[in-house]
Amino acid sequence: MSRLIVQKYGGSSLADAERIRHVAGRIARDRRAGSDLVVVVSAMGDTTDHLTELAAAITDEPDPREMDLLLATGEHMSGTLVTMALHAQGIEAVSLTGPQAGIRTDTAHGRARIANIDPARMRREIDRGRVVIVAGFQGSTGEGYDTAEITTLGRGGSDTTAVALAARLRADACEIYTDVEGIFTADPRVVQDAQLIPTIGYEEMLELAHQGATVMQTRAVELGWVNDVVIRVRSTFSDHPG
Ligand code: ASP
Ligand code: MG
Repeated sequence: MSRLIVQKYGGSSLADAERIRHVAGRIARDRRAGSDLVVVVSAMGDTTDHLTELAAAITDEPDPREMDLLLATGEHMSGTLVTMALHAQGIEAVSLTGPQAGIRTDTAHGRARIANIDPARMRREIDRGRVVIVAGFQGSTGEGYDTAEITTLGRGGSDTTAVALAARLRADACEIYTDVEGIFTADPRVVQDAQLIPTIGYEEMLELAHQGATVMQTRAVELGWVNDVVIRVRSTFSDHPG
């Protein structure tokens, strides 16, 4: 069996067509090296903020159910575009929404928790030789199409999607790709002499996340801790080990 890697690319890594082609190039490289891949994507750039502002311009009290359906479109968009970019590079790939990927959640719109993941569809696509691109940050309630509602997992929720999929699929690696080269003592985009931390425990990482580090969603760190998922945070724009 090939090595299975779950990767996640954040919004800044997918901000425009050029970056999407670059991300597809990285995925293609790992695919050609022989790995099976499940790739979780965030919405492009500031899409989620823009959608939230749009809703706020329409009404002071957006319906939570409609809000989740709206926000989920951001990840649908990037998933399809990354998939098309892979096709253009000769790589077989398919994009799945969170619900199509089998991600079931509770009913708490805007801050849903993953209840379970049915990996059958993802496994089938992997077995057909496809890279599976999964829309992050979303899932659905219920089992059937006639009851299911789309939910979102809270801001930064694509990290949680990635760690949950890595745990459920028993992936050999879970890689979070972002615009910095790993976990630092402070935000390296703000603090000049921030130091890279080569390895950090879950508890310490949780503390950083609670103190406001945005590099990973708190829930993703918790989920990694509970399921013993080794998470590597790396840069989309370099080959630094992270
Ligand atoms: N697009 C969502 C957000 O901006 C989820 C994510 O990026 O992880 O919060
Ligand atoms: Mg993030």
